[in-house]
Amino acid sequence: MTAIDVRSLHKKFGKLVALDDVSFTVDDGEFFCLLGPSGAGKTTTLKSIAGLVQPDSGSVSLGGQDASDIEPNHRNLAMCFESYALYPQHNVFDNIASPLRSPNLRLPDGEVRERVGRTADMLGVGHLLDRGVDQLSNGQRQRVALGRVLVRPAHAYLLDEPLSHLDAKLRTSMRAELKRIAHGDLMTTTVYVTHDYVEALSLADRIGVIKDGRILQVGTPQQVWDTPETAFVAQAFGKPRISFVSGGLVNDNGVTRFISSDGAITVPVSGVDAQAGETVQLGVRPRDLTLHTGAGEQPAGTERLDGVVYVLEHLGRQTEVTLRIGESLVSVVASRRDAEGLGVDDKVSLLLDPARVHVFGDGDDGRRLSR
Ligand code: ATP
Repeated sequence: MTAIDVRSLHKKFGKLVALDDVSFTVDDGEFFCLLGPSGAGKTTTLKSIAGLVQPDSGSVSLGGQDASDIEPNHRNLAMCFESYALYPQHNVFDNIASPLRSPNLRLPDGEVRERVGRTADMLGVGHLLDRGVDQLSNGQRQRVALGRVLVRPAHAYLLDEPLSHLDAKLRTSMRAELKRIAHGDLMTTTVYVTHDYVEALSLADRIGVIKDGRILQVGTPQQVWDTPETAFVAQAFGKPRISFVSGGLVNDNGVTRFISSDGAITVPVSGVDAQAGETVQLGVRPRDLTLHTGAGEQPAGTERLDGVVYVLEHLGRQTEVTLRIGESLVSVVASRRDAEGLGVDDKVSLLLDPARVHVFGDGDDGRRLSR
């Protein structure tokens, strides 16, 4: 086990900037998720840690030691990349056992058998050890590839989208399994690359959000969810996505209020670091809003926004209702009962708790202005 320190990595491929000052630290035994869209620089970061990509500048330290002069195969990192390649002529046992037979390790046969059996059982492929890998489903292959990583003692695991080829059901169960393995049985430092925010929120001790080769925020799942530092980070988490309304701030008898550009939405916001007149955007998560259809009292301390139904999308037991309020679109997740009988253009209201809104500067890169 070892801590990983990534400091100011820069990497260009021709003119393309793949990494632009990437820095973060992964503590000893920590499960760290690198989350970002396609092309963000996740794999390049992971390969830089592994020594498979040579950064133009910056450094990687493993267990406090600068790794620049350590060859990839001497870094003692176990890696699983998305394009897993298994040995087609070997069965499952030999594929999982292969890292244990490398010249670096060469474990005795008894220990190899014991480790392979334990790892295969952990991943639910213990009954397939004698099968050729050409007789496996894609999901089983991916588990064998993961087995090949987890089987060996290593300072750290580097996992690049290891669940991406699994169907939705298997993905959910493997995610739970991986969480148990990583947090319980192994406690090995892990860097896990994903573009799936649910995976990151459920697996990670901490998440680093990366976009265009830059780390936007590093924090616990709760921190990135509750206090996203940019509008992009806010919209990277949650489905349906956070709604944004563009507008400005005014001082109304000592109370700072957000007013949308068309004046249709006004909400008191406290603790905001912004200049009056600056263009800002209000972010509201659909699950932080309540649909108010007229029945029942409006709870104290809530704000009411009146609009009309723009789109209804049924999500099983819940319904996503998008309202048009002036020129803005704001979504809410409502119970099926609350949304029953609603149709497009019906008048409805939303209730919001002003403490649950987020204020950002303008645009995707808009910085958090709420404290
Ligand atoms: P994905 O989720 O699609 O795998 P990623 O976040 O892992 O994306 P990277 O693979 O790190 O992104 O790529 C970052 C950028 O660098 C991309 O624009 C990619 O096209 C480019 N890139 C990566 N490797 C190379 C290479 N060997 N040569 C040229 N460009 C590359």
